[in-house]
Amino acid sequence: SLFSETPLSTAILENLSSLGYETMTDIQAQTLPLILDGKDVIGQGKTGSGKTAAFSLGILHNLNVDRFRVQAIVVCPTRELADQVAVEIRKLARAIHNIKVLTLCGGAPMGPQIGSLEHGAHIVVGTPGRIEEHLVKGRLSLDEVNTFVLDEADRMLEMGFEDSIQCIVEHCPAQRQNLLFSATYPQGIEKLCQHIMKAPEKVVV
Ligand code: AMP
Repeated sequence: SLFSETPLSTAILENLSSLGYETMTDIQAQTLPLILDGKDVIGQGKTGSGKTAAFSLGILHNLNVDRFRVQAIVVCPTRELADQVAVEIRKLARAIHNIKVLTLCGGAPMGPQIGSLEHGAHIVVGTPGRIEEHLVKGRLSLDEVNTFVLDEADRMLEMGFEDSIQCIVEHCPAQRQNLLFSATYPQGIEKLCQHIMKAPEKVVV
């Protein structure tokens, strides 16, 4: 199936074709229509399956660039993954001018992150501990988040990030769309989903 058969905006579709994205991967074909329909989605699929574009296009579809507030947050297990996700979002967002994507990762110096937070962003991508730290110190507001994404959720649980994830969720509005991607689906993930997600659709590729 083709991206052009989805309700994505013409600007986003034109940018996708300029990137050479015409046909959806399996996970995109199975999750993107649900995501664009506003559903909570659990996607089980590996790196390389195209999951990043699936949730990123969902974020961009819901985003109002004229409102300079954090509207989406993507939580990742590592700085490397967060950086990759931010690169992909910026690529997919080229048709939307003045969009600001901010990465907040552990191990990166605090000063520039605090400065960037003062300037604001539309989308935050980062690792759980550092995001939690900015939230607790009152430097980051998630009051206007409409899309909450957990990427590689199984790895985050293995790394002991469950409490940080809970803290981040509690700072988001109750009414929001939740998207969770994970390569595996152990019991811990199922419990996390029961806490966080509302009537999720589960897709396995
Ligand atoms: P991911 O699994 O999200 O890490 O994506 C793997 C790679 O596939 C990335 O480099 C994407 O840029 C690329 N990609 C994702 N979806 C598509 C698509 N529908 N058509 C072509 N390339 C894609």
